[in-house]
Amino acid sequence: MKIKISENLIKSISTEIDNAKNIVITGHTNPDGDAVGASLALYHVLKKSIANVRVIMPNGIPRFLRWLPNCEEIIFYEHNEEKCSDLIKNADIIFSLDYNELSRLEEMGENLKNSKAKKIIIDHHPSPSNFADYIISDTSVSSASELIFEFIYMINKESHIDINVAESIFTGILTDTGAFSFNSSEHRTFEIVGELLKYGINKNEIISNVYSNFSEDRMRLQGFVLSKKMKVFHEHSSAYISLTKDDISNFKFAMADTDGFVNLPLSIKGIKFTVFFFEKTKYIKLSLRSRGDFDVNKFARKHFNGGGHKNAAGGKSYMTMEETIEKFVSLLPDM
Ligand code: 5GP
Ligand code: MN
Repeated sequence: MKIKISENLIKSISTEIDNAKNIVITGHTNPDGDAVGASLALYHVLKKSIANVRVIMPNGIPRFLRWLPNCEEIIFYEHNEEKCSDLIKNADIIFSLDYNELSRLEEMGENLKNSKAKKIIIDHHPSPSNFADYIISDTSVSSASELIFEFIYMINKESHIDINVAESIFTGILTDTGAFSFNSSEHRTFEIVGELLKYGINKNEIISNVYSNFSEDRMRLQGFVLSKKMKVFHEHSSAYISLTKDDISNFKFAMADTDGFVNLPLSIKGIKFTVFFFEKTKYIKLSLRSRGDFDVNKFARKHFNGGGHKNAAGGKSYMTMEETIEKFVSLLPDM
């Protein structure tokens, strides 16, 4: 194991788990493959010894993850506020996976804050905030899912790992590393992937489920985005893509259809920083990606009410699309 966690911390957490009757596992808003993979992996492990384990997410999971074992058991706060509030209120333990601050849960965060449950963060984002009783945080791992694999061993539940757990963890690692193209230079990550393969997971099928699962409409939307909505600033090694509600009105559109758009300009030679602006009902959602030294976490925190990792971050703008883009372009020379 690469990460070092104090024995006392693990002992305390193990005791909490052994004494718990009701456990709630949560991931962040707009859950990605890592949030869902980590949550389901832990769910499958804890289910084997604890009666009432629930997974709650603020909102829905993308289509390309809807094959994950038992994902239909995830409860979504946006459609079941009352039920989720009750579960959170009555939980003995709440796990916070793949996020480091309650604002990542939007409205659901208030419920967590008010719950008397012991809160345990297992995460790989920098600077975890102090809402939890126990924090297992390491920014050097590929994903929260990788950390969940280590955590299962720390609490001596490795005999509970099965193919469902292995598929969930593999999916988290796969998606958070862009299919092993970033955040995956540590040899431990591949050691874990090697372990997961021993459980009989079908790696090729998972990769195909995740990356080759687009609808025809999604592919056509991508064509439109690349030809009409991408702006490249070679002089700043940067690019952005923007999509408004009007832009997508001519496409049959599902929420997850924009997944991956932010990465497209990074395939252009010399481009090291890209942003995707997407108009939501109440704000413009930003996704930011970089290659190399430019820290998009800092950039998102400073300018766009967000955060994340050095090379992948998100944020929000409450201005119009035009104003948001204008602000972004004005910042490019100072990068
Ligand atoms: P994405 O662009 O895929 O939504 O997010 C990329 C990364 O940034 C993820 O690790 C995610 O957890 C983080 N992130 C996305 N949106 C926000 C945000 O509004 N605030 C913060 N602090 N992090 C975000
Ligand atoms: Mn993650």
